Amino acid sequence: VFIVFEGIDGSGKTTQINILYKNLLQHNRIKNQPAGSEYVLLTREPGGTATSELIRNILLNPANDKLCARTEALLYAAARAQHVEERIRPALSSGKIVICDRFIDSSLAYQGYGRGQDLSFLHNLNQLAAGGLKPDLTILLDLPVGAALKRLNNRQVSGIEKDRLESEAVSFYERVREGYLKIAGTGIDNNSAGSGGYLVVNADQELNKVSDRIID
Ligand code: C5P
Ligand code: MG
Repeated sequence: VFIVFEGIDGSGKTTQINILYKNLLQHNRIKNQPAGSEYVLLTREPGGTATSELIRNILLNPANDKLCARTEALLYAAARAQHVEERIRPALSSGKIVICDRFIDSSLAYQGYGRGQDLSFLHNLNQLAAGGLKPDLTILLDLPVGAALKRLNNRQVSGIEKDRLESEAVSFYERVREGYLKIAGTGIDNNSAGSGGYLVVNADQELNKVSDRIID
């Protein structure tokens, strides 16, 4: 089973992924498998393999301020190709649950809706990169941009440096958020899984309310 978390920066993806991961291990929810971390692969994009983490460093380094939009899109796709080949597919083949922090929809939302790159180009590029692999479920953490930026600022106060992409204008994140909602093909839905394998969760509420919804 392939589960992807999506959402704008500051939406709480990493926090929620870790809660779900611990829950899966503790409660032995994995059918016909004993509890244990060897049955769940937790991974992230861009990254997840040594090669992909090197590409991530190029992408997030604030010194790379001349990186053009097309180069950026190709680098995300390159990191993804390696990640799918080296880590995700083998894990799925051996029957693991794979939980991934970001996947193709991040490219459509950020490079497409955010930066105005051609959506069908991005779609084709990423189909190629991922060899057609699709998530079984995508959990989109949705919240207003203002609330997300507030969280990012708190993060910065507590000493975590901003990466190259966390210094974008508010309007950029507005486009990314709207893009995500269009991709998920639904508005905010707190009660039922959305169509096409999307669950849109209102992330602008207490941490444990969000995680209860996801685990449910
Ligand atoms: O989710 P995470 O914080 O690890 O993402 C790293 C950075 O890459 C974020 O600042 C995010 O906005 C950016 N990103 C992007 N386009 C993608 C994926 C991530 O701009 N396709
Ligand atoms: Mg981030």
